[in-house]
Formats: sequence, structure tokens, C-alpha cells
Amino acid sequence: MRKPVFAGNWKMYKTPAEAAGFLHDFAPLVAESSHAEIVVCPPFIDIALSVEAARGTNVAIGAQDLFWLKEGAYTGEVSAPMLAAAGCGWVIVGHSERRQYFGETDDSVCKKTIAAVAAGLTPIVCVGERLDEREGGMTENVLAVQCAGGLDGITAEQFSRIVIAYEPVWAIGTGRTATPEIAQHAHRFLRDQIRSRFGDTVSQACRILYGGSVKPDNIKGLMAQPDLDGALVGGASLDPVSFASIINF
Ligand code: PEP
Repeated sequence: MRKPVFAGNWKMYKTPAEAAGFLHDFAPLVAESSHAEIVVCPPFIDIALSVEAARGTNVAIGAQDLFWLKEGAYTGEVSAPMLAAAGCGWVIVGHSERRQYFGETDDSVCKKTIAAVAAGLTPIVCVGERLDEREGGMTENVLAVQCAGGLDGITAEQFSRIVIAYEPVWAIGTGRTATPEIAQHAHRFLRDQIRSRFGDTVSQACRILYGGSVKPDNIKGLMAQPDLDGALVGGASLDPVSFASIINF
């Protein structure tokens, strides 16, 4: 039985004080939600206060990105051991906005994923096709390439500590959610890819989250799909009531 994960990706929203205020309101709404792992991923600058505000609750804090080296002259970067030391347990890797605007590649996704696992963080590795790729019938090819490149050289033991997020780029922030059937098809395809690479036990244990305009009113249909194990939520995770109603679907 795979325990669902609900992770909120706040992107570049909320100051430290706003993050602490959110957690103050949000934690009681999910205090009984033991059916799921709950993660909030604020901007780097909010992490310290968020960890403090989430202490003693069932809400874990994650980051939205990391750099793969431990330390050094890399202005502006933050490493996996730094995130772990700050109290993060999770980190998003390879979000499509990082790929689109900041030059993230499957190669950097792979290095970041390995660094995250080595530091004891759970990486949420994002894959997903753009609209032109879907319309061109390329979805499965894109997902296969992203999996192969983004997980290159990763062992089954390392992979068992990774969560995958299927996020069709055309559904992110657009209000256009994938239908449950479209999501299930992609999730099944991803699980098959994982099976052929790491075997049946690892693939059956892997949590595959869906991301892309998840809202309180569409989560139920998505969660009814057999290969869907939670959600990576952007816009709707910024409001405590809306994120809690997604989790408590
Ligand atoms: C995301 O940022 O990962 C995301 C899925 O955003 P939204 O829920 O706003 O589409």
C-alpha cells in the first residue's frame, strides 16, 4: 500500500511572515490527516521560519530546488546538506519552470536527485510533456527520455527514496487539469518504465504524484486512479483551506 503524498509548491510566493502565518492556520486543518504525507515547499528564504512554525505538526518542509555540490564558490546556490541542516526533508527537482526558465536539463536533474538522496532528502522528481509534444503524439517518448536521463546511473536503492511527479506542462497554472484517464495513462506508463529499469517491487512501491491545476473539486477523480499516489499542488496550495481540502479529499 503506497502512502499518498501531497506537496505544495509555493513557487515565488509568500514572505517568511506569510509562510509562518499559513502554517499556523494550515496545521490544525490537517492534524488528523494521517492517511497522507504532507509537505510544503516555500521559497528558500522562508525555510527557517517554516521549519520552526511546522515543528510538532505532521507537516514537513521541502525546498523547490538545490545545487548538486556540497559547498563552494557557487553564488546564489544552496546545497542538499544545507537544506537538510535547515530542517528540510524534501526537495522538488526538475520542475518544468526550472527547465523552461533556468536551463535545467535531465543531466542536472540527475545530479541534483543523487545529491538530495545522499543528504537524506526525499527528492520529488518532476517529468512531463509540453502541449506541442502531447499534440505531436510524443508524450510517452518525452517521459521515457526524461526518466532515462534524469535517473541515469541511479541504483534501485537510491530510487526507492525518490518520489516522481507527473506534471504535464500544459496543465500547470493553466486551470486545464489532465482528465483522470489522461493522468492514469501517463502514470501507468511511468510505472512501467520504472518496472523495466528497477523491477516490480521497486515500481509497485514508487509514489507517482500528479501535478497540474489540482483543485479541491478535481482531486477526487484523480485520486481514484490506481497509479496516482498524491499531488504536487501549485496555486491551490497557497491557501490553507484549499490545500487542506485537497489533502482531505
Ligand atoms: C506546480 O507548480 O507544480 C503546479 C502543479 O502548479 P498548479 O497547481 O498551479 O498548476
